[in-house]
Amino acid sequence: MNRERPLSQLPKAHLHVHLEGAVRRRTIRQLISRSKSRAAYQQASVHNLKDLIREFSRITDLIQKPADLTRVASEFIQDEAAQGIVYTEPMVGPRLYARRFGYSSDRVMRLLLDAMQDAAAKAGIEVGVMIGKPERSSESGKHRPRR
Ligand SMILES: [Zn+2]
Repeated sequence: MNRERPLSQLPKAHLHVHLEGAVRRRTIRQLISRSKSRAAYQQASVHNLKDLIREFSRITDLIQKPADLTRVASEFIQDEAAQGIVYTEPMVGPRLYARRFGYSSDRVMRLLLDAMQDAAAKAGIEVGVMIGKPERSSESGKHRPRR
């Protein structure tokens, strides 16, 4: 009896996935097409951590409105469920968006949780969160790992 199943069909937990690093390509393209910085945005190669952080920051900068963030959060949950993830725990940084949206960090967090929990309930999976604390709460949203 062959009990092997493809990895995609096995139940999995996904911990510490950065929400903005898991945005759908199509969504990124749509956010770019709407962005004022359209001309300035070109897809760049990533060769090291510095490049990765730069690209992460650029994606974060494309999330300009609360509806952008809830869309990204909902799509993330749908994509996780489609990969057989039964529990996901994304890293989120509500402070990155608080000033941009004119919200408190708590309000951004509530927005994120509501969007992710709604999507998770529909998909039949569970979601928790890790909350990232940037060293600087600048609009550019720099995030550095703690040493
Ligand atoms: Zn991380």
